[in-house]
Amino acid sequence: MEPAVSLAVCALLFLLWVRVKGLEFVLIHQRWVFVCLFLLPLSLIFDIYYYVRAWVVFRLSSAPRLHGQRVRDIQKQVREWKEQGSKTFMCTGRPGWLTVSLRVGKYKKTHKNIMINLMDILEVDTKKQIVRVEPLVTMGQVTALLTSIGWTLPVLPELDDLTVGGLIMGTGIESSSHKYGLFQHICTAYELVLADGSFVRCTPSENSDLFYAVPWSCGTLGFLVAAEIRIIPAKKYIKLRFEPVRGLEAICDKFTRESQRPENHFVEGLLYSLDEAVIMTGVMTDEAEPSKLNNIGSYYKPWFFKHVENYLKANKGGLEYIPLRHYYHRHTRSIFWELQDIIPFGNNPIFRYLFGWMVPPKISLLKLTQGETLRKLYEQHHVVQDMLVPMKCLSQAVHTFHNDIHVYPIWLCPFILPSQPGLVHPKGDEAELYVDIGAYGEPRVKHFEARSCMRQLEKFVRSVHGFQMLYADCYMSREEFWEMFDGSLYHRLREQLGCQDAFPEVYDKICKAARH
Ligand SMILES: Cc1cc2nc3c(=O)[nH]c(=O)nc-3n(C[C@H](O)[C@H](O)[C@H](O)COP(=O)(O)OP(=O)(O)OC[C@H]3O[C@@H](n4cnc5c(N)ncnc54)[C@H](O)[C@@H]3O)c2cc1C
Repeated sequence: MEPAVSLAVCALLFLLWVRVKGLEFVLIHQRWVFVCLFLLPLSLIFDIYYYVRAWVVFRLSSAPRLHGQRVRDIQKQVREWKEQGSKTFMCTGRPGWLTVSLRVGKYKKTHKNIMINLMDILEVDTKKQIVRVEPLVTMGQVTALLTSIGWTLPVLPELDDLTVGGLIMGTGIESSSHKYGLFQHICTAYELVLADGSFVRCTPSENSDLFYAVPWSCGTLGFLVAAEIRIIPAKKYIKLRFEPVRGLEAICDKFTRESQRPENHFVEGLLYSLDEAVIMTGVMTDEAEPSKLNNIGSYYKPWFFKHVENYLKANKGGLEYIPLRHYYHRHTRSIFWELQDIIPFGNNPIFRYLFGWMVPPKISLLKLTQGETLRKLYEQHHVVQDMLVPMKCLSQAVHTFHNDIHVYPIWLCPFILPSQPGLVHPKGDEAELYVDIGAYGEPRVKHFEARSCMRQLEKFVRSVHGFQMLYADCYMSREEFWEMFDGSLYHRLREQLGCQDAFPEVYDKICKAARH
């Protein structure tokens, strides 16, 4: 048969199938059809556009010249809002569907949207070891530029599309956080436009209250217009050790010990059941044994979490050399393990070789096209949560996750939490080792009910002086929220800076009622 005729027959059969099953059924239960046919090509076009744009802007050095003008434009918008009587709160004008968080804030429709068109890397100063960036710069942009000139961020959150603004105003973490802390702890200065339209720069020694209050405030103290972030020299590879461990106590012991060893640049754990895990430790190196080189980020390679699982199945440790950028974005192609629910055959070698170069679909486009029915289904039958708890409570926390939601794999990422003022700090006066427990997927617990199960989990996290990441669904009441987070500095600054009439309180932005 002629190729055109075969194509036409296939298209006809497909349309017939959609007609018989109904469009809604196909969109909900066979989402891969829509994702593979439409979202993957669209995502690719999106990515190419942003990559080329960032490259051209940086090459022409036009960003630093235009930055001042762009900031003045934001100040002008804020002053106009004030002159018009400050009728509603303000928020950033970035559409909700463009963010990585799976939720879309309802407030975008009712608040005054301030357009912040700041998406460029402004300056790399290798002498001071600082990169100055605008808030919409993404992690993909940062690694593409910095690693090409031999530098990197000490903490480089995993997904390509995460933005500097979102990681500072929300949270950012990576497997090097046991050494360097959260994303906010590698930042040395923030530049903001405040509620009165004024511009301010803050550092640990200059306007330090504001500097410590900004992280996790979700844009409720001002608009971030630039940030300075530490950089460190990069090496070509990560020498990564994989070690399967069995028994929860042995897992917790091993994971804690590895997180305390300063010679480990990277520590990560993937928990595949209550008592089976693979713990990975990595160091940066310029040398690699060619036979152990693994370009894990290449489109035809197996998904990272599946590759790691093979070590568990074989019950044998291993050593690999992974190119730095491939390591940083190792969970990007499978969006951790979220993509297996959308494209169930996505890790099949045939799919990977034929279409893997288009994967993953952009989270923003997935959100934009999910529709109300699918959104509600996701809410009731899907969990995306990161809970940060003291490392000493890891075993108790894993048991609680197991009983309340039962989602595997679970992501374990250690981090050091310095004792600093602000919304998030340890209970005592000293830095404390914490762990981020990430649960993404379909809960297998019997009779899962999102609200009650999540409230139970939140209660546990509060009881051990832990924190919930604010991008996720939060079912806490206002009182419970302020029991979890230290609002003393935050509330004082909101009053001082006139934020109460300009921005909602952080709880009102992130609580369940505020989001679709
Ligand atoms: C599937 C998934 C995977 C994830 N993986 C990781 C991961 O690997 N590592 C990690 O650290 N985190 C991860 N996260 C969580 C992520 O850290 C948060 O979603 C974070 O807030 C960044 O998202 P964003 O860049 O889309 O920011 P946004 O959602 O756009 O912003 C977060 C908050 O900051 C505010 N904000 C943003 N820019 C500004 C600005 N210029 N001025 C004022 N306010 C601003 C926004 O209003 C919003 O309240 C993941 C989340 C999901 C859903």
